[in-house]
Formats: sequence, structure tokens, C-alpha cells
Amino acid sequence: NITVGVLALQGGVIEHLSLLRKAAASLPTPPADDVKPIKFSFIEVRTTEQLAQCDALIIPGGESTTMAIVARRLGLLEPLRQFVKIDCKPVWGTCAGLVMLAEEASATKQGGQELVGGLDVRVLRNRYGTQIQSFVADLNLPFLGGDAGHAADVVPPFRGIFIRAPVVEEIMTPSPRATPGAGDDSKELVEVLGVFRKPGSGISTAESSSTESQKVDEDIVAVRQRNVFGTSFHPELTNDTRIHAWWLKHVVDASRQRNPSVPNSVAS
Ligand code: GLN
Repeated sequence: NITVGVLALQGGVIEHLSLLRKAAASLPTPPADDVKPIKFSFIEVRTTEQLAQCDALIIPGGESTTMAIVARRLGLLEPLRQFVKIDCKPVWGTCAGLVMLAEEASATKQGGQELVGGLDVRVLRNRYGTQIQSFVADLNLPFLGGDAGHAADVVPPFRGIFIRAPVVEEIMTPSPRATPGAGDDSKELVEVLGVFRKPGSGISTAESSSTESQKVDEDIVAVRQRNVFGTSFHPELTNDTRIHAWWLKHVVDASRQRNPSVPNSVAS
């Protein structure tokens, strides 16, 4: 049995729990009666005891400064760091969760914001401005390609919901982990899994009206490194279970690596 937690200090907790349940139900069921299915439990995490029960964790969107203050007060910051960097369990941060999982965040006053870390990136908070500048954009996410039998270039777009979203503005050199050899070397580097392209200063000038002259502005909005995954946008605010299902499969694989007795199939 696999327990997946959603950090429930603040932010979009129930949305993640409900999409996790839907995604789990969409995963393949055992082909034969003799295969013992995996059972998922999805729980809210507010205490170190609840965190200790988890095999994987989502840090939702919300407000990263508030989340950090509450986590500090509840004595959860260090246990969260341990969960991510020492235990190396799968963790996914959406929006404010991505900020929490970054090693550095800019647009914060020095000493103003504590982070959990785990992703060797610097994020820029509120990249697109305030709440009223929120937007929705179709994203091309080739990493979802393996799943529904689509080739990477024909994956149906994912509806990216951006609300005071951060982006990854710099990828840094991987920091050494306290548990060397815990992961596979190819996963040490930060992998860019999704970008958002918009025609930046895109207004063609009179002198140069060719499309080539349009500066393409590209932001990194999905990354993965080792056991940590982060997205700038909010899949939990859609009905699209693809990213949750993709991540749950990684959770199952990681649990199986830790404990080979985890079954191959998922209970419906
Ligand atoms: N701007 C928020 C932060 O920096 C994130 C917003 C969100 O999670 N929707 O924490």
C-alpha cells in the first residue's frame, strides 16, 4: 500500500486530493486475479507523524511565504527537508509548491523566505504579475507522450493554469546529496519537462516585420531532478488527470525500488 500526502497548511489541497483519486482510478488494474493490486491512501499532512506515513508528497499551490511560516511554526520545515533530500521520496510541487522546492527564490528580500529546497534551481516568483494577470495557456508537454500511446509530438495540449506563477529562471549545478548513490546519475541534473512560449516583445516593428524578428520568450514551467518534480501551473484546477497519473506511476516505481514486494498493478 502506498500513502501519498498533500501538504495541507494552506492552498489548493482538496483539489489535489480529488484529482489524485481520479488519477489513481484511471491507472491500469491487475490483468489477473492472482496479482495483488496496489492500494493508494491519500492523506492531508499537517504534522510530522502524518508526513512520516507518506511514501510521496505533493506541496500544493497557495502562498509560499505563508506556507513556510506555518511549516516553521509546526516544526515541519526540517522534516520536509529530510523527506525530500535524505529520504529522497517522490515530491511534486505546484506553483507555490515549486517555490518551496527550489533551492533559491528571487524577488524575495534576503532572509525573507525559507524554502525546503531539493531542486537545484532559482525560481522567479510572480513572473507574470498579480492575481488579475492570471491566464490559461495550452502547453505542449512531451513527457506525457509515453502514456496514452501518443508520440511525443502529438500529445494533446495540457491546459496550463497560471496564477501568480513562478518560473525557473536559472538551473544551477547539482548540489551533492547527503546520500550518495541514492539515485541514478542521469537523474542528478535538472531536466526541463515543459516550457511556456509566448511571443515576447512580439510586435513586429516597421523595419523588421518578418516573423523571425519576433523574439520568442520562453519560460521553464516544469522541471524534474532526482525525486523532485515541479510545475509552475495548476493541473489540479483542471479535470485532466494525465500529470497526476504520470506522477503516481513514478511514485509506484519508486516505492517498488524501495520495497520490491509492491505489486505491479494498481487497484481500481
Ligand atoms: N505567487 C505565489 C508564491 O510565490 C504562488 C502562487 C500560486 O501558488 N498560485 O508563493
